[in-house]
Amino acid sequence: MFPLLLLCMCGLLLRGDAQDRASLWKGNDRSGRCQYTFTVPSPAESSCPQTGGPEMEGLKARLGLLEVLVSQLTAGDAGGPQAAGARAQSELQEALNRAVGERNLLQGEKERLERELGGLQRRVEEMRRETEKLRNRPCPPQTPMVPPSPSLQNSGLMRPAGDSAWQYGPPGFQELKAEVTEVPAPDGSDDNTGCGELVSVGEPVTHRRADNIAGKYGVWMQDPEAVSPYGPNMVWRIDTIGTEVRQLFGYEDMEQLSKGFPSKVLLLPELVESTGATVYRGSLYYQRRRSRTLIRYDLASESIAARRDLPHAGFHGQYPYSWGGYTDIDLSVDEQGLWAVYSTSKAKGAIVISQLDPNTLEVKRSWETNIRKSSVANSFIICGKLYTVASYTAHDTIINYMYDTATSQGKSIAIPFRNKYFYNCMIDYNLAQRKLFAWDNFHIVSYDLRLGRKQAN
Ligand code: CA
Repeated sequence: MFPLLLLCMCGLLLRGDAQDRASLWKGNDRSGRCQYTFTVPSPAESSCPQTGGPEMEGLKARLGLLEVLVSQLTAGDAGGPQAAGARAQSELQEALNRAVGERNLLQGEKERLERELGGLQRRVEEMRRETEKLRNRPCPPQTPMVPPSPSLQNSGLMRPAGDSAWQYGPPGFQELKAEVTEVPAPDGSDDNTGCGELVSVGEPVTHRRADNIAGKYGVWMQDPEAVSPYGPNMVWRIDTIGTEVRQLFGYEDMEQLSKGFPSKVLLLPELVESTGATVYRGSLYYQRRRSRTLIRYDLASESIAARRDLPHAGFHGQYPYSWGGYTDIDLSVDEQGLWAVYSTSKAKGAIVISQLDPNTLEVKRSWETNIRKSSVANSFIICGKLYTVASYTAHDTIINYMYDTATSQGKSIAIPFRNKYFYNCMIDYNLAQRKLFAWDNFHIVSYDLRLGRKQAN
């Protein structure tokens, strides 16, 4: 009996020891059936070091997988799948916002063009009626030129005494065709330092193409007398498409403009109308939207320094250039100061030139030409002489008229001018570089100039 009891006790002891070392492993075999493996080390093997069984192997494999997942989720700023998803979503949102913005701008542009079309149709109808009236009228006898009355002389609104068109009396406009005064061919007597007549205009040089629809039209400028904190190389730009034009971009120099990296973005307190703005002596001068109010905005203090109505000036589509685009009031700067080109109901749509006080914006003196403003694409002033461009769409057009404020005389000319991108909405003389600055269908361009020597008289 005792030996049997001893055997049972030994068996129980061994079982308990074996239970400590036993392990169960559960998994699928190759055929997919559930397989249970129960492992009990033999007393002989139980002294061997535990090297893990299939369960340990399984745990190790799962741990390995988890480690890979964690490292993927936390790996660097490249982010994991979640970060990539969030990035893609924000990019999509941004693209959507951009597309909606562009659609709104295009909608505004479409409405503007429709209004312009309506205006043009009305103008065509008016001209048709005018032609009809003229056809039915007997030819008037040619009368000698009537000299301007003393009151007109005193008012400063001098008519061009020697302008042939006036020989036929007001309110006729000079026909800008046929008898063209040839510009003297360059003979080495011209230079780029004097203030003589314009001799020639070079090929357009492209500095930048706008990135999106907002830059289809615009104005760019450089201050010929820059004021601190802005240096003389600073270039300014306003994209003028849409109805909420108030952003003024500043670039350190031409190179930064070309690269499209503004160093300054100013939000103007009053909305801008069209492409007639200019900068001079540390101020931006522009026409306030839907008004004849001129604004002088001080660039250093970022505030309005002066505002004044330009007396009787047409605005918002009353007397634009042939391009339209509410180009009723065109401001610019030359060797003689600040100028405004516009028209009034008194001038019946003819170009009026006024020299302005740059501090107060008061009109110092005015000249009335007999060139219908809507018949020319744009104009610019160099050395007190106004030049008009015939077409804003023709690839090869001409500068077709010059009016000299010094003599109050105008004449037809024909200086070749190129609209490289077929839609020139802004042309101005830039005194800082002595070039023409223009905005041609998304493109910021400049033209070199050749001026003749100033006449001795
Ligand atoms: Ca202009």
